[in-house]
Amino acid sequence: MISLVDLTAQYHSIKKEIDEAVLSTLESGHFILGPQVARFEESIAAYLGVKHAIGLASGTDALVIALRALNIGEGDEVIIPAYTFFATAGTVMSVGAKPVIVDVDPQSYQIDVSKIEAAITPKTKAIIPVHLYGLPAEMNPILEIARRHGLKVIEDNAQGFGAEYLGKKTGSFGDIGCLSFFPTKNLGAYGDGGAVVTNDPSLAEQMRMLRAHGWKKKYYSEMVGYNSRLDAMQAAILQAKLPYLDGWNEKRRELSQRYTEHLAPLGVVTPVEREWAKHVYHLYVIRSPKRDELQAFLKQKGIASEVYYPIPPHLSVPCKKFGYKEGDCPHAEKAALETLALPLYPEMSLDQQDEVIAAVREFVSK
Ligand SMILES: *Cc1c(COP(=O)(O)O)cnc(C)c1O
Repeated sequence: MISLVDLTAQYHSIKKEIDEAVLSTLESGHFILGPQVARFEESIAAYLGVKHAIGLASGTDALVIALRALNIGEGDEVIIPAYTFFATAGTVMSVGAKPVIVDVDPQSYQIDVSKIEAAITPKTKAIIPVHLYGLPAEMNPILEIARRHGLKVIEDNAQGFGAEYLGKKTGSFGDIGCLSFFPTKNLGAYGDGGAVVTNDPSLAEQMRMLRAHGWKKKYYSEMVGYNSRLDAMQAAILQAKLPYLDGWNEKRRELSQRYTEHLAPLGVVTPVEREWAKHVYHLYVIRSPKRDELQAFLKQKGIASEVYYPIPPHLSVPCKKFGYKEGDCPHAEKAALETLALPLYPEMSLDQQDEVIAAVREFVSK
């Protein structure tokens, strides 16, 4: 049985450090925010090359708090890609704004930059590029469009921690970058977690207030905020894991390259790389017009695979009220029918990978 990811393999590879982090947190008596969280915030800010990082309860909260800090709400529009995890759209709706959904490039699954300007209206406030699967979005043209139209940029970097665009870390380009530490993300906690990063001190202050009831001073709320704080336990675990992130991402890249070397010659549509980007392969996603059959075949062989994502946000139930319909974003809709993520995690053995490759080969030569 080959699973999509194996989180216990990673735990066992650094068990001593994780156990120490957990035990020392138990001994410290600090469980919400506190010195562990402050230390981890400094570490991720330094890693990304940004001034401020704020630890939060999840990546979804990171998007909500970023939108709120930029005063985006009722009557506003936010441009997002048509192929992404629902949270990118859902968070825009949860602050009362409308997600304006732009189709993606069929090869990279990134927002099609040439279609952004046509989607801008007087109500548009921001663009949220998503570094989907770990491949950086085309930041320079996006930032240029944003500058020209006076729009904010929020990077959804939940899948791209450690990725680089023109040699600079993703998440550090926009007004705000959002991170998720969901256990399967490239840097994963043992529970939920997230963060926002920014170079702007006043946005940083707003977001610190928003994560704890709008407090600057405890109990004196100055706005309606949330309870969205990173646990000290998760921060300690993440702090122990952070030094390994680059190595793990390198393993993901090596295994992905090996997949591509074996699968592309079989005619399988493999992920694209861009010369200006360092892809960190949060997911290794292939495409097949016979995707469902392939998935069933792999399952029969004891190999897990998963569809990210079976429904593009514009066709989701909550987005119906905006009048989106089938055919609005044809590339995203086709991707939803054809994409399939194969097992990939840094600790995966070459034998396991060979088994996956052999099964795909058997399927395509049937
Ligand atoms: C995981 C993810 C999120 C949400 O993060 P959570 O920590 O699960 O709330 C948002 N956007 C994208 C693209 C994601 O992959």
